[in-house]
Amino acid sequence: MHRSLLIALLAANFCLVSAQTPRRPTPARNRAIANIIREIDARNIEATIRKLVSFGTRNTLSEQNDPKRGIGAARDWLYAEFLKVAEQSNGRMTVEKQSYEQQKAQRVPQPTIITNIVATLKGSQPEATNRIYVVSGHYDSMCNTPIDAKCDAPGANDDASGTAAVLEMARVMVKNEFDATIVFMAVAGEEQSLLGSTYFAEQAKQKNWNIDAMFTNDIIGNTLGGNGVRDRGTVRVFSEGVPSNETPAEATIRRSVGGENDSPSRQLARFIKETADSFVPQLKVMLVYRRDRYGRGGDHIPFLERGYPAVRFTEVNEEFRHQHQNVRVENGVQFGDLPEFVDFAYVANVARVNAASLAALAWAPARPAGVTLLSVRLSTDTELKWEANKEPDLAGYEIVWRVTTAPVWTNSKAVGNVTSFTMKGMSKDNYFFGVRAIDKDGNRSAVTYPKPQARTQPAASSSSHHKSDLIDHATRRCV
Ligand SMILES: [Zn+2]
Repeated sequence: MHRSLLIALLAANFCLVSAQTPRRPTPARNRAIANIIREIDARNIEATIRKLVSFGTRNTLSEQNDPKRGIGAARDWLYAEFLKVAEQSNGRMTVEKQSYEQQKAQRVPQPTIITNIVATLKGSQPEATNRIYVVSGHYDSMCNTPIDAKCDAPGANDDASGTAAVLEMARVMVKNEFDATIVFMAVAGEEQSLLGSTYFAEQAKQKNWNIDAMFTNDIIGNTLGGNGVRDRGTVRVFSEGVPSNETPAEATIRRSVGGENDSPSRQLARFIKETADSFVPQLKVMLVYRRDRYGRGGDHIPFLERGYPAVRFTEVNEEFRHQHQNVRVENGVQFGDLPEFVDFAYVANVARVNAASLAALAWAPARPAGVTLLSVRLSTDTELKWEANKEPDLAGYEIVWRVTTAPVWTNSKAVGNVTSFTMKGMSKDNYFFGVRAIDKDGNRSAVTYPKPQARTQPAASSSSHHKSDLIDHATRRCV
């Protein structure tokens, strides 16, 4: 729908739109994010990509003990680079090699050590330090086949680009103190079926880590597509609509209230787009409402499967002659994932969108928990309630809403530091609602989409003629 038409419709339908509060973050917070964006340097990204390419191959099955060629050399170089970054952190950043032995599998012909480089920048607010944001790229590469450990596999775009972006974000962001914790990660085994990321996500789940969001950056450097289109001004952010880990009971509720466009990952994608629009106007976020491209996957998927919100960043127009190809010239056409086909300035802009979003999330309060939409009583108002946040710098909450056909949140209303609010005269049947938290510096959390209030007990105390009017959302039975 045309934006002005949408606004006119909203204004005509109810009078509360005028209560919408403008986004008014404080200058200090704006300055901090602007500094991060400014300091991200395409020259560092180029140097990292060229260095990673110089190891010849980074295939997960390649040499692990050769100091010059193979994935082991890349692993040790990355580890040393992240350690250098950590030296700037006054002890707040720790770097580890997270290793395990992968047993024989479809793309792993013999047991193989998989190593992720994990740099953790600890959050400094006690109430938020256990909330974790993960940003990753994969440093392994492949040529035509994932089990060829000998061929040259430069992997400049797939995925030295994502790895270089993550290292550059770490270098710049380490100078800041965030409320929540950020993990900068380079994983291996992606081309072997997402092995490194799966290991990390499974460890996180077993240790009950509160990963509030995960970004994977994979193939973020090509700006001249196989379709002949050059686009240096757009990046895709893929997000799933229906959660990968949804239970049958949750599916039943979702079907009854229309929640297929409101997963936590979709809210995360919307948050990234809003942040990019504010801080990185040179790069437009193209929201793609699907988990990944057709027939393809990425390191966000193991996180999604374990219930962690996650999105994938990828360039808009891919060039398949420069992905997963042996380096060669055929009929005058250069094949192979070489650095000359990477647009380093573009990678830097993708890194800026990531960094701005991570900073905004890690400085913001947590997403409100326990957000409930009271659906039991028939009413032309919409009643929302939620649990109180714990952060000492919390200022309050905002209700956001949109018509059901809108792709992103269109309206918001500040409601103060309360844990329930009623949107008078706005029917829950006509809009989607959400709640976000805001702190005293103007940092806003991502949005939490409410669950309809579950019926825990029959309405025995209410009068019987009311009972017959109620609808149980989970079963669609009149009760
Ligand atoms: Zn990749």
